[in-house]
Amino acid sequence: MSSLAVLQSEVAGCTKCRLSTGRTQVVFGSGDPAADLMFVGEAPGFHEDQQGVPFVGQAGKLLERLLGGIGLRREDVWICNVLKCRPPGNRDPQQDEIDACEGYLFRQIELIEPKVVATLGNFATKLLSGKPLGITRVHGQEQDATLGGSRVLLYPLYHPAAALYTPAMLKVLEADFARLPELLGRAAPEAVPEVPPLVLPAFDASPAAPEPDAVQLGLF
Ligand code: URA
Ligand code: SF4
Repeated sequence: MSSLAVLQSEVAGCTKCRLSTGRTQVVFGSGDPAADLMFVGEAPGFHEDQQGVPFVGQAGKLLERLLGGIGLRREDVWICNVLKCRPPGNRDPQQDEIDACEGYLFRQIELIEPKVVATLGNFATKLLSGKPLGITRVHGQEQDATLGGSRVLLYPLYHPAAALYTPAMLKVLEADFARLPELLGRAAPEAVPEVPPLVLPAFDASPAAPEPDAVQLGLF
């Protein structure tokens, strides 16, 4: 079993804070365990608690659309939250809950070693920046950080759930999102090829062979 899977089974039985009593299940995180890009939201909502997967509701649909705009799918990134269990009625996380849960997030960062950590909204941004500055002040401003022992580029973004209902905020989120490929390239300059690699068609075009993702080739 991978270290991340070991951590996942540990968190699945966690009773370190009061949220363990109201949850349907822990929402650990999902995506590519070797992702260069990680998103950190706030906490599971109703649908996430039901399905055990982060960002599966309306905010998740928007996140997927924004990812599509930069040639990525949710399977290409790691998506998780500050809190792994749903707060009752989707209320804000409380400080003692964040204190109890943050170790799991830092261990996820340590194991995944992303290049860019995009924080979605105030709670993730304040926790990972270690500063009280709110998202309205710091969105779109990347900063170097050491998280879980790794050097990462921290990139605060508006929370998609907030942007859903505020068109002006959505425009800003889209503009900030559009800089992610540049930030991923900047964090890993050796990963940017001069010429996109030539992808030859497979000899055996069986349905099991995944299609190469043409959109991504130009980006990385
Ligand atoms: N909002 C979050 O912050 N996280 C989710 O998983 C879903 C909605
Ligand atoms: Fe444990 Fe975090 Fe869930 Fe609290 S929110 S019970 S600390 S996994």
